[in-house]
Amino acid sequence: MEQRLRHEAKSLLEQGKVDYIIGFEQGSLKFTTTPLITRDKDDIDRLVINPFIVNNLSVFLTEVKGRVGIVAKGCDSRSIVSLIQDNKVARENVVILGIPCPGLIDLKKIEQLVSKDRDELGDITRGGDKVVITVGGEKKEFPATEVLFDDCLSCEYPTPQEYDILLGEPSSLVCDKELSQSKIKQLEDMPPEQRWEFWEQQFSRCIRCYACRQVCPACFCQRCFVEESEPQWVSLVPQWQDNLMFQVTRIIHVAGRCTDCGECERACPVGIPLRSLTKKMEDLIDELFNYKAGMDKEAAPLMTAYEYEEAEDLIR
Ligand code: SF4
Ligand code: SF4
Ligand code: SF4
Repeated sequence: MEQRLRHEAKSLLEQGKVDYIIGFEQGSLKFTTTPLITRDKDDIDRLVINPFIVNNLSVFLTEVKGRVGIVAKGCDSRSIVSLIQDNKVARENVVILGIPCPGLIDLKKIEQLVSKDRDELGDITRGGDKVVITVGGEKKEFPATEVLFDDCLSCEYPTPQEYDILLGEPSSLVCDKELSQSKIKQLEDMPPEQRWEFWEQQFSRCIRCYACRQVCPACFCQRCFVEESEPQWVSLVPQWQDNLMFQVTRIIHVAGRCTDCGECERACPVGIPLRSLTKKMEDLIDELFNYKAGMDKEAAPLMTAYEYEEAEDLIR
């Protein structure tokens, strides 16, 4: 798939069909990748596809001008469609290089599983529903469900639904929906007071770095409400109540756009389990409106459409 990607990306640049390619290259740390944005065909051999391509690259589409060839997994392609629905991206300006995605490996789960730091790990390889980890020269095999990200474990559309070039055969993903929902279920089972205390503790650790907002393709307001001074919706000093207010408002703002790509939780430097909020919102949107984000580029964005039959007396 990597060779095919490099071939397609190079010919798109050579034929002048795109001005830029957005993909992944090897990161500076072991088992990481980093976004590569280039217009130079000599950079193309740096493009990689591996189980660590975590970023949702569609976040760059509102920044990079011109025609763009972009590497997209299933969840990323839905974010691109969502941006098209919101008129943030023109379909004709994007060439989607679709990756049928087998799920991404969560390095933190591996570090916990083998009680080793990433630098002590020799190699990590994926083969079907197994992951083989080399530690101290010894190979250890684990079911993929134990080391994939929670969002990947319940992914319904690992193969991009919208693409121009599909770089491989549609993927079959190993899922474990129960495991994927376990943190949310734990929270749902708590009495309200205990759940409130849990989130108080979590958001007391928030340093308001806004990494969760910056990595999110669905967070595209030019001026975020947290930066307003008249009225000032939240204090600039990170206090837990304001931190919680920021996050709850952010999640309501991305309702109907969030594709459960998991980037906000991955980006959080203090490890707040944000997916327990974003995934819950995604599920509620599906349950209430029978709507999944980024499935139909012709459809009106969820929050701008209203049907008379909807049970909402206030709007009526
Ligand atoms: S959520 Fe789905 S498409 Fe996205 S990285 Fe995980 S398995 Fe791949
Ligand atoms: S990334 Fe984490 S620490 Fe930073 S603002 Fe978001 S929730 Fe707070
Ligand atoms: S809210 Fe989080 S999971 Fe949802 S689209 Fe944004 S970054 Fe991805």
